[in-house]
Amino acid sequence: MRHNGKPVILASKLSPSLISVSERSCALVVCSECGTWKSIKRGMVTAHRGPHVPGADAWPAEFRPSPPRCPGSGQRVRVDLSAQEWRQRLADASREAGLRRATRVIPRPKPPVARALVQVAAR
Ligand SMILES: [Zn+2]
Repeated sequence: MRHNGKPVILASKLSPSLISVSERSCALVVCSECGTWKSIKRGMVTAHRGPHVPGADAWPAEFRPSPPRCPGSGQRVRVDLSAQEWRQRLADASREAGLRRATRVIPRPKPPVARALVQVAAR
């Protein structure tokens, strides 16, 4: 498989939530084009088909056209992080997200409900 010609993505530049590095298996990455998890083999995102064409669900299954190849296939990704480093980055990022303050909800008064026509006529 050839690469897709786009510049190499460094694992250290990606958000730690968009990549998964393990000692036991190949690294996984979220495809930048279709947003699904794909494995990295030989330094590239494995070939896969992209999201279904809009409106494809309207076709019966036997006539439904198969989605085209995802342009994120063959994206070069250099995994320049060890599994240990990636776990540390993920832990730091989730701790930072947990410290963020929630937005305060300001309740607004509800407008008065208009009387029904039957109630107005009864007066
Ligand atoms: Zn994709």
